[in-house]
Amino acid sequence: MLKSTAWQHDNGLNPFNPMVKYLGTQRVKNVILLIGDGMGFSYTTGLRYFNHDSNKGIMNPTIFDQYFVGTQSTYSLDTESNITDSAAAGTALSTGYKTFNGALGLNIDKQTVPTVLEYAKFRGKSTGLVGTSQVNHATLAAFAAHIESREQYDQIADDYLDERIEGKQKIDVILGGGTSYFDRKDRNLIEEFVRNDFGYVTTLQELVTNNNEMLLGLFAPIELPKQIDRGQTVPSLAQMTKAALERLQQNPNGFFLLVEGSQIDWAGHDNDIVGAMSEVKDFEAAFKEAVKFAVNREDTIVIATADHSTGGMSIDRNDNYRWNPSVIKSITSTPFVIATRLHETMDMETLKYHMHFPLHDADLEIIKSTLEMEVEDTKEALINVINHYSSTGWTTKGHTGEDVPIYAYGLNRHLFSGRMENSDIANILFQIMD
Ligand code: MG
Ligand code: ZN
Repeated sequence: MLKSTAWQHDNGLNPFNPMVKYLGTQRVKNVILLIGDGMGFSYTTGLRYFNHDSNKGIMNPTIFDQYFVGTQSTYSLDTESNITDSAAAGTALSTGYKTFNGALGLNIDKQTVPTVLEYAKFRGKSTGLVGTSQVNHATLAAFAAHIESREQYDQIADDYLDERIEGKQKIDVILGGGTSYFDRKDRNLIEEFVRNDFGYVTTLQELVTNNNEMLLGLFAPIELPKQIDRGQTVPSLAQMTKAALERLQQNPNGFFLLVEGSQIDWAGHDNDIVGAMSEVKDFEAAFKEAVKFAVNREDTIVIATADHSTGGMSIDRNDNYRWNPSVIKSITSTPFVIATRLHETMDMETLKYHMHFPLHDADLEIIKSTLEMEVEDTKEALINVINHYSSTGWTTKGHTGEDVPIYAYGLNRHLFSGRMENSDIANILFQIMD
């Protein structure tokens, strides 16, 4: 829980103290921080290959490339592990403190430390959390909760409503998944949010027609479907970002908005390149939306980065010297959805509606044999085939420790250049926010 005594930064920098030493630079009114969970360099490089519509020639830069400014190191201070999880990395990015894995908004001594979102609220700004996981999942929660374990989903959701900054609601716009954590047996947080002047929406159509300045939007019981599996009623990350910006920009004091591409990491854990490209594309569009907002403004910084990389994804495998994104592009759903459909129909013909590249009989036999097993087994078989034909390599089902990119656009972007620690990003934000 948030305690006012815990706001003191022990490094001499107290972000809630007006005497804080600002960098000799212009203050920023609006901050849009985008985190691609798990989005290491191989993912954004993969996107460049993926967007290129030929097998040869000069590749067009991605939207990210032109805003590349630096890299950050992601390791946490966990005593058991020198590879971070998303809670510890999120906490470093949100508070300026590296901490132990699993911790949200706490330093290594388990003391509550303020986040840049809370500081923005303290300065009279509006705040927003937008993502494609449940909104109380680790990365988003690291900006607005203070809890020893990321698994305490109900407690995190409670804190979003119950914790106040200067008597005001901590978060003004919350968009993503997670109905099941808000509409519970012990408590209906949705009703309580509405009683506290929030609008509530559950579909894209409701999102675009809603006019509430404070808004809770929950579009799935837990996570949203991945971008390529989404139906007409589920908003994209870009559409949620746009809806958040429309509301937050009404505050004359400005805003802090966090946008997370939550499931890039989840696809990485699955070693699923179709899901990975789907979610990087979704994140790319959200970054475009953020940059579009900041263009021609002198008062906004847009930063996009990752909390760590996932899966040890590599562009090519087995000495092939030929990564093949056309295979990935020919697939119209994630392996999980294709596997689910196969188990519903028990008909291998179903595969033809989802995968438009030629499979050998041996591949079909392997996939067919999994129909006697679980959906997960079929998913795994599809993933193996797709990785083989696209020539995508993976080294782990977990996270990896290499540095990750920082992209920035707008006022003070140069401050995020070069090589830094993940915690430096929060420390700079504390100092430049107006
Ligand atoms: Mg996350
Ligand atoms: Zn992860």
